[in-house]
Amino acid sequence: LPVVAVVGAPNVGKSSLINRILRRRDAVVSDQPGTTRDRSYNRADWAGAEFDLVDTGGMVPRAKVGLESLVTLQARVAVEEADVILHLTDARLGPTEADAAIARELRRSPAKVVLAVNKLDNPADDTERHGFHSLGEGEPHAVSAIHGLGVGDLLDAVVALLPETPAEEDSDLPRLAIVGRPNVGKSTLLNRLLGAERAVVSEVAGTTTDAVAGEVEFETAGGRERYLLLDTAGVSKTARKASGVPYYSSLRTSGAIRRSDVSLLLVDAVEGVVAGDLRVAREIQESGRACGVLVNKRDLVSPDRLREVAEGVAARLTDLKPHSLPISALTGAGVEDVLPFASRVRAAYRLRVPTHEIAEFVNALVDRNAPPRGVKIRYATQTGTTPPRFTLFANRPDDLPDNYIRYVENALRERYDLWGVAVGVKARSSR
Ligand code: GDP
Repeated sequence: LPVVAVVGAPNVGKSSLINRILRRRDAVVSDQPGTTRDRSYNRADWAGAEFDLVDTGGMVPRAKVGLESLVTLQARVAVEEADVILHLTDARLGPTEADAAIARELRRSPAKVVLAVNKLDNPADDTERHGFHSLGEGEPHAVSAIHGLGVGDLLDAVVALLPETPAEEDSDLPRLAIVGRPNVGKSTLLNRLLGAERAVVSEVAGTTTDAVAGEVEFETAGGRERYLLLDTAGVSKTARKASGVPYYSSLRTSGAIRRSDVSLLLVDAVEGVVAGDLRVAREIQESGRACGVLVNKRDLVSPDRLREVAEGVAARLTDLKPHSLPISALTGAGVEDVLPFASRVRAAYRLRVPTHEIAEFVNALVDRNAPPRGVKIRYATQTGTTPPRFTLFANRPDDLPDNYIRYVENALRERYDLWGVAVGVKARSSR
């Protein structure tokens, strides 16, 4: 999907505008990092166009240290990835020196910029916006994010500038993101995979952004498979500059997860599964992507410890239930299995089962373990894929207990090897 980033100085009303665009009522309107950080990407649509709307914290280009500089860095990543930038300003204050500094910075970006002037609660009287011509970003659009005024016209202008097909979509190879906390070994693995598979790092067909680290190819029983490896590890030049900055990697990770089919989550065999790993796993799940876990640094631990970490993965990532593969990115042990492993996860993610087969399978489940008295499952079918979703048609769907749904879900997971994907099972009325 094309990316639209909303940037601006602190307190100009970015979160209010985003809430307005997403038609949600969240009270997240602070410029404090952390409030928007975990929900930076949001799927939005307008006039038939879909895009990812990226929230950023307040941008303060002159900030060199501290929180402001980290938030600014985060905003720069968003700018770097964006197709269209929505530069939001405050009619009551500006144009300020801060607005001008942001405008100067945006001029260096290849993305298109739309200028919006917020807090014009009476857009009929929008004379104040004229001063904003001085920013050199074209016609300023008057809006009131709080009251929802002018937002439709603003979105029209944004949507008109979206690329027909985003650059990355030119290559329809499946995408693999290697994600995880800092220092789990992402770069080491990425380099090893790219080296071993003789990737064409700089000339991946149709990709212009540095979000792609390279292309890999491997032999399977059925022929060759190719993947794009997304860069989340700081292999690219810009990423290297800012390496070690958590905001940066967090946003980059979110972007890569959303652009991927399968995310490989690296965990550290020495440390085991920790809170940071669970956060990334949750993000993979919430974005509806598939996940395989690589337990890295196996050269540093005993086989007992490896088993323990694998059990930890199974016990703690209970929604996606991913399988784990022990590797050492450093020595290369197990690395030859990484792509076939990813391929199995991807196959689960894309599962499609013929209708009659699901119907028969669920019938057999019902025979073995019937739902509560009076509830009848009449029919079952697959209703979606990536990730696979199933619907049970029942006479009284609301009376089907959660644990029965889970029983069906688990059986489907076992039967079709749906490890590392969210299996959706819903009950609906058969009438
Ligand atoms: P990233 O931040 O996730 O990209 O992590 P890096 O790839 O930069 O690795 C962090 C550190 O862990 C480096 O010093 C690596 O050499 C080391 N490392 C990575 N993989 C392994 C491994 O399999 N075994 C051992 N012993 N060290 C590793």
